Amino acid sequence: MRKLLRFVKPYRLAIIIGSGLIFIQVILELLLPTLMGNIVDIGVAEGDMAYIFKTGGFMTLAASAVILLAVISIYLSSKVSMSFARDVRSEIFRKAESFSLNEFDRIGTPSLITRTTNDVTQVQQVVMMSLRILARAPMITVGSVIMAVYKNPRLSLIIVFILPIIILGVLIVTKKGVPLFRSIQIKIDRLNQILRENLMGVRVIRAFNRTDYEKKRFETANRDITDITIRVSRIMAVMMPAITLVLNFTIVAVIWYGAINIDRGVMQIGDLIAFIQYVIQSMFYLAMLSMIFIMISRASASATRINQVLDIEPEITDPENPEISDIKNGVIEFKNVTFSYHGAEKPALKDISFIAKPGEVTAIIGGTGSGKSTLINLIPRFYDVDSGSILIDGVDIRKMTQKTLRENIGFVPQKSVLFTGTVSGNIKHGKEDATDEEVRHAAEIAQAAEFVSNMGEGFDSVIAQGGTNVSGGQKQRLSIARALVRKPKIYLFDDSFSALDFKTDARLRSALEDETVESTLIIVSQRVSTVMDADQIIVLDGGTISGIGNHRELLKTSSVYREIVSSQLSEEEIA
Ligand code: ADP
Ligand code: MG
Repeated sequence: MRKLLRFVKPYRLAIIIGSGLIFIQVILELLLPTLMGNIVDIGVAEGDMAYIFKTGGFMTLAASAVILLAVISIYLSSKVSMSFARDVRSEIFRKAESFSLNEFDRIGTPSLITRTTNDVTQVQQVVMMSLRILARAPMITVGSVIMAVYKNPRLSLIIVFILPIIILGVLIVTKKGVPLFRSIQIKIDRLNQILRENLMGVRVIRAFNRTDYEKKRFETANRDITDITIRVSRIMAVMMPAITLVLNFTIVAVIWYGAINIDRGVMQIGDLIAFIQYVIQSMFYLAMLSMIFIMISRASASATRINQVLDIEPEITDPENPEISDIKNGVIEFKNVTFSYHGAEKPALKDISFIAKPGEVTAIIGGTGSGKSTLINLIPRFYDVDSGSILIDGVDIRKMTQKTLRENIGFVPQKSVLFTGTVSGNIKHGKEDATDEEVRHAAEIAQAAEFVSNMGEGFDSVIAQGGTNVSGGQKQRLSIARALVRKPKIYLFDDSFSALDFKTDARLRSALEDETVESTLIIVSQRVSTVMDADQIIVLDGGTISGIGNHRELLKTSSVYREIVSSQLSEEEIA
């Protein structure tokens, strides 16, 4: 919690002004009961109407001032806490943007979302309540006790008895409540995760008739949260009446002894009225104070979760003095690269070495899970290698900025991702200032122009959220167009032709050839027909290179390659 307070700092002026206003408010509030007592003791007792009106008028004025000050200070506290929340959210977002994929894997997307939204809201509420109560409550409590003692020291002994009881009660409630609060946040994560999985996998769930199972899963998680929230609320619900009860008993006791004192003539009625007011005020704000402490401990669970995100040192950072500011040729060299995912038992890639040259096509083939995507993802530095190095034009990719590196890469991921917007907007993701002509050209090469022109509004047609209104193959072609429009030095295609029919695949590759004569192409595929014309084919098997060469060479030297080939091509095609 304390660490997050740095986000409040920019608003200290508003806080100081607000606290000042609260201070004036408190003074006025402390004055009111005494004035009321005076009206009874002086005005009413002696029938002095002028005094009653004068003091009454002043009280009305003071009460109005209290209301006005309260409005201003509440406005300030809302403004500060909302700005605080906005700043924390954007800081989390900024941080998440700097994460490598490893860090996303570690925290998990659903949790990252809950932390940015729900957890921030928890903390924000506490900041707001603290600003309103934390300054006021101690001042009023202490002030009221002082005033009460001043009115009647002996009667004040009652307060001394009651306070420890209230404090003890608060401690018990806090101790029981805080662990529950912590688990609520974790349960929200879980609910969020199930919800996301369900929404994204809705087709699979329906197709496999898993609706009932998923419903149950969701309901269990949902009930979990409900149960625990009810338990928390029950504890909190007991607290308020309990405090009221203690307070009322106190007042009964005060009136009892007060009456005896008045009867003896050692206390005046007005003083008793004022005294009761002070007791109520001090107890009420003490209760509020205790609520704040409970809320703070609740929010500290959220604060910890927020700090976990903010404290992550992104693994992938830019060098302080980049060795180059632009990539000239785009020669990619892997030198004994070994890489494992966090927590994985064995490396996903082991001792990989090869060179991919401009103007050539380097193809990577291998079974599922052999490490093809992993290899591709290392080149734009989505992950950093464990040992060995990846060089571009002889410079380690860790010695250039991520911007330089990625600017020169046209990356087509295995899973095509489109964004909500138009077709041309999606293609322009590759190059923001691309002209219509460039967009059209890229689409033509990607074999997308035809279906785009059939889409009704052509390049201005709308892509629905997640690209659900285009087919898998169309999505792939738009992703390819997005990479092409950049005209980068390096193209990375991760199984990007898998959803295309053989004819489109072949047409696309021949169009690519003319377009990319000076670029380095790395093409991942499971299809022999896609890779067999490549200048160099790398056969991956279980994270290691089991063969490297062109189609003819590999047929002779690599048994793994022969196996793949014979499973896909007929005898004549092989020969
Ligand atoms: P391919 O693309 O050849 O099908 P991948 O490169 O995707 O294979 O995966 C290689 C291996 O790395 C697999 O065993 C897979 O389980 C593992 N792997 C892939 N992505 C991750 C990840 N984000 N975290 C942990 N392990 C992963
Ligand atoms: Mg893959």
